[in-house]
Amino acid sequence: MSRQKKFILQENELPTQWYNIQADMVNKPLPPLNPATRQPLTAEDLSHIFNEECSKQELDTEHAWIDIPEEVLDKYKYYRSTPLVRAFALEEALNTPAHIYFKNESTNPLGSHKINSAIPQCYYCKREGTTNVTTETGAGQWGAALSYAASVFGLSAAVYQVKISMQQKPYRSSIMRTFGAEVTGSPSMSTRAGKDIITRDPTHPGSLGTAISEAIELATTTPHCKYTLGSVLNHVALHQTIIGLEAEKQMEMAGEYPDKVIACFGGGSNFGGIAFPFMRHNILDGKATEFIAAEPSSCPKLTRGVFQYDFGDEAGYTPLLPMYTLGHDFKPANIHAGGLRYHGAGVIISQLIKDKMMHGVDIPQLETFEAGMLFARTEGIIPAPESCHAIAATIREAQKCKEEGQEKVILFNLSGHGLIDMTAYDNYINGDLRNYTLTDDDIQKSLKDIPHIL
Ligand SMILES: *Cc1c(COP(=O)(O)O)cnc(C)c1O
Repeated sequence: MSRQKKFILQENELPTQWYNIQADMVNKPLPPLNPATRQPLTAEDLSHIFNEECSKQELDTEHAWIDIPEEVLDKYKYYRSTPLVRAFALEEALNTPAHIYFKNESTNPLGSHKINSAIPQCYYCKREGTTNVTTETGAGQWGAALSYAASVFGLSAAVYQVKISMQQKPYRSSIMRTFGAEVTGSPSMSTRAGKDIITRDPTHPGSLGTAISEAIELATTTPHCKYTLGSVLNHVALHQTIIGLEAEKQMEMAGEYPDKVIACFGGGSNFGGIAFPFMRHNILDGKATEFIAAEPSSCPKLTRGVFQYDFGDEAGYTPLLPMYTLGHDFKPANIHAGGLRYHGAGVIISQLIKDKMMHGVDIPQLETFEAGMLFARTEGIIPAPESCHAIAATIREAQKCKEEGQEKVILFNLSGHGLIDMTAYDNYINGDLRNYTLTDDDIQKSLKDIPHIL
């Protein structure tokens, strides 16, 4: 029997607009607030650190469709469309009646979905006369994507990488340098913020908080330099909708429509990317697709956090965002899915959870690697530790289908490959990984210091 495994769009079939779900949401997200005045932020406030176009997109609750600039589409064509794949071998291994599809965002040269937003962010910076971009990166996927996109548009990139991650994952710094970026371990002596931290604590291993502080300082003290962010914010999720918009067309080629859409969850950009275009049909056309965001049990903001205004960073420099949060000084366990260790969820997602348009599930670390191993051995792709959470949630749903004898259609996003995370797989195979349980007390402690505005 000949059955189709992959569904691919031709270049001339790529979507030419992103989908802005804010325009269709019944309850709009609450506005971000200036932490000093507690007044809603304007696009102009945001454009002191971000480029102007992304600052506008961030707060746009009017336009459902936003044109993808021609120059961005040209760069998307270097690696898009990405394949929609039917996971026949995984289905067989699970002996499930479910039809499992995945959107493979690991096929681009950088290996994760982050490039989908790095390209437009650098393009808008270039168009607005910016010459330098800066950012922070933890495990390094975002830094790598930004370094590539900066080189494509002739911008200089300065990346602050968490010092300890830089030592643990040296290859991602090598990738960034190959694309011409200047990579600095954070905390560093190159900024006021970094010097202060090192003076207080000479052996500080660095954190996303220290790296964000340094990158924002560089952006605000360097002429023609903008700060960029790889997740959490609305404009990042907007750019990622290219994933779901392609998937919508590809599912049509397969003659199916998803009953369940699943993605892993760090700040929400790959989840929003695959989910929002389908959620549009729940809002507007009465579809009843279920949306599931898979987070680590050790960082459970969606399932155990509170909905409150909180800072985006540890140091408390960013605007206050209304979100499900574990508290901005929450210190997650050092799990291998580095991209999922963020304390809060984006503001769109947080509103959607409040409105019961989607829900989260939390998954223990060992279950995620077990899922990743099965996926590697059936479908032949070694998934990023982050993506393993989506696979584990998919397997749970497929097993439910088996128990209930239901032939549901499940679509998940494979956000990246794990080829630079093989230490994590080695640790799993050697039996050196463990689950981290978080008590209610732990969570209450880190929630103590958030501002109580709502
Ligand atoms: C960064 C990253 C994530 C988490 O970020 P989101 O914004 O939640 O998508 C997930 N998977 C991979 C491979 C990543 O690099």
